[in-house]
Amino acid sequence: MTAPNELAERFGTPSFVYDLDRVARARDDLFAALPAEFEVFYAAKANPHPELLNELRTGGCRAEISSVGELDAVLQAGFAGEQILYTGPGKTTEELTEALTRGVRLFSTESLGDLRRVGETALRLGVTADCLIRVNNATGAAATSIRMTGVPSQFGFDSETLPDLAADLREVPGTNIAGLHFFPLSNAKDEASLIAEFRHTIAMAAGLQKALGVTFRLVDIGGGFAAPYAVQGERPVYGTLRAALGETLDEHFPGWRDGAPRIACESGRYLVADSGTLLTTVVNVKDSRGQRYLVLDAGINTFGGMSGLGRIMPVNVEPHESVGTDGTPASLAGPLCTPGDLLARNVFLPSEAGDLLTVPNAGSYGPTASLLMFLGRPAPAEVVVRADTVVSVSRIQHIRTYEHGQAL
Ligand SMILES: *Cc1c(COP(=O)(O)O)cnc(C)c1O
Repeated sequence: MTAPNELAERFGTPSFVYDLDRVARARDDLFAALPAEFEVFYAAKANPHPELLNELRTGGCRAEISSVGELDAVLQAGFAGEQILYTGPGKTTEELTEALTRGVRLFSTESLGDLRRVGETALRLGVTADCLIRVNNATGAAATSIRMTGVPSQFGFDSETLPDLAADLREVPGTNIAGLHFFPLSNAKDEASLIAEFRHTIAMAAGLQKALGVTFRLVDIGGGFAAPYAVQGERPVYGTLRAALGETLDEHFPGWRDGAPRIACESGRYLVADSGTLLTTVVNVKDSRGQRYLVLDAGINTFGGMSGLGRIMPVNVEPHESVGTDGTPASLAGPLCTPGDLLARNVFLPSEAGDLLTVPNAGSYGPTASLLMFLGRPAPAEVVVRADTVVSVSRIQHIRTYEHGQAL
């Protein structure tokens, strides 16, 4: 990649730089870590940038989306309707109509009400929707940073009561039950816990196939593939997963190698996190009551993926100029008028105004996971490169449009 200071000079800061070669490497590493028969859904929410979507599509990924905005993004990036899985707990009749009209046929459903709404919409349009039943496992296996199941949730059918619904599920007009969808965790701690969780999921899927009396055509066993986020570090390359998955599937779904059922998994962060770098400039340095603040031009409006969760990211930054070395711990603050605009605390990073900092592994949950509109600053530039070549430079714009002519 071109040197960060050169890119910052050309395109300004704050800016994200995404390297398509690194997206391709992550994608190829993930496919190589899985049995060859596997399908991979890319969760567009991790980064819906068109060039990244395109890089993943051309390398064989399908797309997982959860809104009409993401539908637009993936269709524009060249995905066909039949490559898309539409998910989410709050699907409205309007968005289902839009998705079905534009060719999406595969939906993950989170409750009987959700399934029936998909069915009603499909019937009205004269089509049939293939529906995955999303399962909220009563139990899990792995250690992880974000666990999604086993507790009350808006996501998925509770696994312990799902068999009671078998008759109801099979009879929803406008739908076919295609199989199951699991997403029990994000960012698994290590390969062993990832494998343990998949084994658990696959066994549960086989049990549910019996209990529901439906022959599954597709089982999406979820994800949990890990990647460093805004900290130094390397994306793991999984060396034993492929064999473990093959062996577990042979045991529970003997026809899976012939596509009965097809097996899929899904990932967001693993595929894009390490492709991205955030470039930000120190605008001001100030000391207040023994605490140093480095005020940056990027805050939670630019890279605030965790801000909505009330967390401060363990951001690691690297100075790219030779900066002083007085070693006072500093807080990294953004430019917004809220004390909540903090990216990190206790960073030992002697810097002065004008220094360029970079945040590594920033390719997932960046601008679109941030408080982009808060305080009205422009969105960051997003620079897509392939090695040393700049492929595109773009910026998300917010424009208010009046729905009924104009304001009163
Ligand atoms: C967010 C999400 C993903 C992607 O999660 P990562 O941790 O980024 O891999 C995949 N599937 C579902 C259902 C999700 O909600």
